[in-house]
This record gives sequence, C-alpha cells and structure tokens, in this order.
Amino acid sequence: MTISPERLPPRLPLRLLVAAPRGFCAGVDRAITIVERALEIYGKPVYVRHEIVHNKYVVDALKEKGAVFVETLDDVPDDVPVVFSAHGVPKAVPDKAAERGLDYIDATCPLVSKVHRQAERQVQSGRHIVFIGHKGHPEVIGTFGQVPEGNMTLVETKEDAEQLSPRDPANLAFLTQTTLSVDDTKAIIAVLERRFPSIIGPRGEDICYATSNRQEAVKAIAAACDLMLVIGAPNSSNSLRLVEVAEREGIDAKLVQRGGDIDFAWLEGVGTLGLTAGASAPELLVREVVDRLAERFDVEEQVIESVKERMVFKLPRSLEAA
Ligand code: SF4
Repeated sequence: MTISPERLPPRLPLRLLVAAPRGFCAGVDRAITIVERALEIYGKPVYVRHEIVHNKYVVDALKEKGAVFVETLDDVPDDVPVVFSAHGVPKAVPDKAAERGLDYIDATCPLVSKVHRQAERQVQSGRHIVFIGHKGHPEVIGTFGQVPEGNMTLVETKEDAEQLSPRDPANLAFLTQTTLSVDDTKAIIAVLERRFPSIIGPRGEDICYATSNRQEAVKAIAAACDLMLVIGAPNSSNSLRLVEVAEREGIDAKLVQRGGDIDFAWLEGVGTLGLTAGASAPELLVREVVDRLAERFDVEEQVIESVKERMVFKLPRSLEAA
C-alpha cells in the first residue's frame, strides 16, 4: 500500500550548523595519497601496517584498490612494498623492514615525526621525558619506540601528573600526543609545571593544528546547538575528543561512522543540530549524513567557519620522484 503524499506526517524543519574546519587533515590526505601512489607505482598488492588512518570507509576503499592491511611486519610477505601508517611506528619497525630488504614507505604524519625528533633530542640531552597521551594508541607506541626503553613515562591524566615521582625531578622534558584535548592537556601541563618548575617542553604542546582547529570549530557552534553529531571511528582519538569537547560545552554528542548509524530518536525535540567530522573522516561521509537527515527533515544547512586551513604536506621524495 502506498501512502499519498498528503497523508505523510509534515517534515519538521532542522537547522544544521556544519563546523569548519572538519574532516581530513593534511596528514591524513598525505597518508592516503601515499598508499594510492604506491599502488600505481608497484601495482597490487601493497601492504599497509595498521589502518593507514582510523576510518573504516577509507580502509575499505583502499582494500578495493589492492591494499592489504596487517598489524605486524611479520604478516608482510617478502618482495612486496609496505607502507607504515600516519600514526608513526617505533624505530624497530623500519629497522626490521630494512633487515628483510623490504621496500617500505613511511606515511607517518610530519607533525608526528616532529615529536619523534624532539623525543630523541631530549633523551640525547640527558632528560627524562614525561609523555602526555593515551595508553595503547599507535602514535604513543610509535613515539615511545623512538628512544631506548626507560627514558619516557606516560601520563594520561592530571591525577597521573600529581602522582609522578621521577628519579631526577630537575631534569625533565614533556611531549604530547598530537590528537589530545587541548583543554585537558593544558591542565596536565599546568600540574607538571607547578610540580617540576624546571621541566621543559615545546611551546604550548604538540597537539597538531588540525586537532585544535576542529575542537575550536565545535566550540564555535556548540552554544547554538541542541545536539552534536561527530563523524568518526570509535578508535579515532581526535574524533572522540570532539565528542568530549561538545559535551563539555553542555550539549549531548553522538559519534557516528556513517549516515545509517543515525537513530532518529536522538533528534526528537532538536531544533538545531551541530555536525562535524574527525580528521580521518572524508567529506563524502558528511554529505551522506546530511542526505540521511534530509530523509526526515527540511534541513537548512549553514557552514560556520572558525578558521581557514591551508596546510599541505609533501609526499616522501621517493614517491614524488617516481
Ligand atoms: Fe597529522 Fe594532526 Fe592529521 Fe594526525 S590529526 S595526521 S598529527 S595533521
């Protein structure tokens, strides 16, 4: 039975504020291009150690083109090229790849590599590093793997910073993961600086431009919204931080991976909806979410840009030359 249009319930208006910047950052863009270029140059298969970026849609699209995703180098056969993900890897990984004679391409984001070099420098100057980050995240594992064991201590919270008892409190440096909450990290650094006044660190912290801009963009629209949708994967650190930022601004926030994840019950009583996407979520998924909303609502979309981004990272020289 078909229902005549006159008998359908009226579509409710929905004001949609779309945060900008949102979605892909320069590091993610570069990492995906590296895999695509490697496929063009070497042909399939190209192996990728760990998800190139934390987004299932991106990973599945690259699988279709011939990329094979594995978690360890042991799963990479001899004689095939391998790409290391944007999150970075411990030094032992390229060393082992070189030992095996594998062709490897490092897609570590240049902003993560910058933290790696800072870690090496601090340890060379004899300082112990307090690293602010999330235990088990591949970026944290990669950064710890830049220096000999025992030279870095992980701090996840203000409480951890309060309880820290380093062997040489006068000889400390701090570094941070690139995708943290700007506000939480400032609070942790404040504890470290109060307890260890001679601690040295980067200016501000190492949180990258893309992470802080996306958090600022959420803050810029949150006050006008009843609910925030964040497009991103559950293992994407910067997407989870966007959910937290919205919640701290006093509104409910939901993480969705695709348009189909939206539960329309969330939108009952919502007049203005905020929408953003983590740094590993493509714009195509933003459009998919808007289309899904338009199935039920008369959507009035407005983009609110808090800052312009123009960052572009060069490809590794070996790929550019090829
Ligand atoms: Fe690089 Fe930041 Fe993007 Fe991570 S979120 S890939 S650190 S630009």
